Amino acid sequence: MVRLAAVTNATIDPPKIAAYVDILGSEPVPALIRAFELAERACTWFPSPAELLKLAGRSPEQLEEQEIACVWSFVRDYIAKHRVHGMPRSERVQPKDCGECRDGWRVSKTGNSVKRCPCTECRVAPAPEIPATIKAALGEIGGLQAVRDTTPEFQLRLRDAFTDFGNQNSLRNKS
Ligand SMILES: [Zn+2]
Repeated sequence: MVRLAAVTNATIDPPKIAAYVDILGSEPVPALIRAFELAERACTWFPSPAELLKLAGRSPEQLEEQEIACVWSFVRDYIAKHRVHGMPRSERVQPKDCGECRDGWRVSKTGNSVKRCPCTECRVAPAPEIPATIKAALGEIGGLQAVRDTTPEFQLRLRDAFTDFGNQNSLRNKS
């Protein structure tokens, strides 16, 4: 911070430093370091805490956008894995070194035949519960089927509509 003040010809005093620490103190350190590095190169003035948060990718708008993107990708991922009806999904288990097989394959002593080792058996993963707020927002746009059926033309608008309904029901806080 002192270095940034020096390169931007700004004066900083203890109360100002205390205010910055108060506002930025709970942010992740790597993001802050990056923000200060960017500011040294990009700013001809001493940036406000709000500007530093933006450089760190941590402004309220940026965080909101990240949270929305996260909820939306949960929905997309859910459909990819469990379809629109929440079907269980069999997942291939990574072969573990059970001692009887090689990469999940058991070769007979003669070396002529091979079979799959039981240690590779599939695991059935039930569909996770969709949080009530997400479910409610989905209901407003036509459910999981709407998300599945959306075309590139309508995808962004559908996401916006979903977000609008979600915001009214504090989607972001519960996800
Ligand atoms: Zn095995």
